[in-house]
Amino acid sequence: MTKTILIAGLGLIGGSLALAIRKQHSDYHILGYNRGEASRNIALERGMVDDASDDFKSLAVQADVIILCVPIQKSIDMIKDLASFELKPNVLVTDAGSTKGAIIAAAEHHLADKDINFIGSHPMAGSHKSGAVAADVNLFENAYFIMTPCRLTKPDAVPRLTDLLTASGARFVQIDAAEHDLVTSQISHFPHVLASSLMLQAGDYALEHPFTKNFAAGGFRDMTRIAESEPGMWTSILMTNPKPILERIEEFKERLDRVSDLLKTGDQDAIWHFFEHGRQTRKAMEIHKRAGVDSFFDIFISIPDKEDSILSVLEVLRGISLVNIRINEENRADTYGVLQITFKNQEDLDEAVKRLSQETDYIISFD
Ligand code: NAD
Repeated sequence: MTKTILIAGLGLIGGSLALAIRKQHSDYHILGYNRGEASRNIALERGMVDDASDDFKSLAVQADVIILCVPIQKSIDMIKDLASFELKPNVLVTDAGSTKGAIIAAAEHHLADKDINFIGSHPMAGSHKSGAVAADVNLFENAYFIMTPCRLTKPDAVPRLTDLLTASGARFVQIDAAEHDLVTSQISHFPHVLASSLMLQAGDYALEHPFTKNFAAGGFRDMTRIAESEPGMWTSILMTNPKPILERIEEFKERLDRVSDLLKTGDQDAIWHFFEHGRQTRKAMEIHKRAGVDSFFDIFISIPDKEDSILSVLEVLRGISLVNIRINEENRADTYGVLQITFKNQEDLDEAVKRLSQETDYIISFD
């Protein structure tokens, strides 16, 4: 049955969701709200939406499903607006916000007596890019798509949303909104605070010690990559999830103090155990598996540490889309280095392994 879907906010997330819906449900009528004309035009040109406008109300009243893909505070404003519109009966409304408690509270407050089927969502994939221009139909492949049911969620909400977004390739999970905000404070929100703090500390240190800028290498880069994230989005995240983030900050200060004490007393054995415990904990986490938050498909290639060996691998892989490529630096002192290449899906990984096995002698391993 033809349905009308409204994507409110044709940015990275909204545009990518529209493309995923389009891929599977080519008969659905997709409407796009966007306040700026540039992303509206891009969305129309790329075929993400059939119609686009900056008039939220005129689009919302036509929709069977509304997905709010705007900054969290704006989603809350839109939820308030929806309460005053004459919407279709049992319209399914969800959002894409990175925090869930504030959105769910707003929905339960403003939409309580309406014939609206509301569920929170958080597609856990992103990029440093933004806007419709950055939308990617594969953005959510293998990523968790978290749904947070609430008092306004009817039993058909999860199957409706899952069916709508199946082509995204995401992994759908349900969790309570408060638990979502606690977990993401630890693995996402607090690490962003930490990355920016580390970056600022290094920036200040570089004023007195200019070589700081030159010597910062792989480890520092890995620790601070997310400090380049969009400040507006992260400000909204902190403002809508303050308590858990404050708790993580306080707890972390205690951890730093404990390391500080070990160092002051010169407790070498305890310091070794501190690092070893961290290493083992990381190994046991899902980030080392395909299904992690940054869930990708990796191969590890042992290649001689000499000129052109990386180029030769890339030549063999020409035409296969690579998500990431890195040289594991801890191996640089060996004759062989380990080149880690990340693919988007199993198909690409299989093709890469096939070609590399046929065309090179390099030892390849994968999970
Ligand atoms: P984006 O900047 O690419 O797009 C944001 C969209 O919101 C744009 O269409 C913009 O025009 C619109 N917008 C911004 N302020 C507005 C306002 N005041 N009024 C009307 N429209 C406004 O951002 P995005 O990455 O697509 O993020 C959208 C939502 O998805 C946010 O709630 C964010 O928390 C969430 N999210 C982002 C990521 C990520 O990594 N980018 C991941 C998961 C969830």
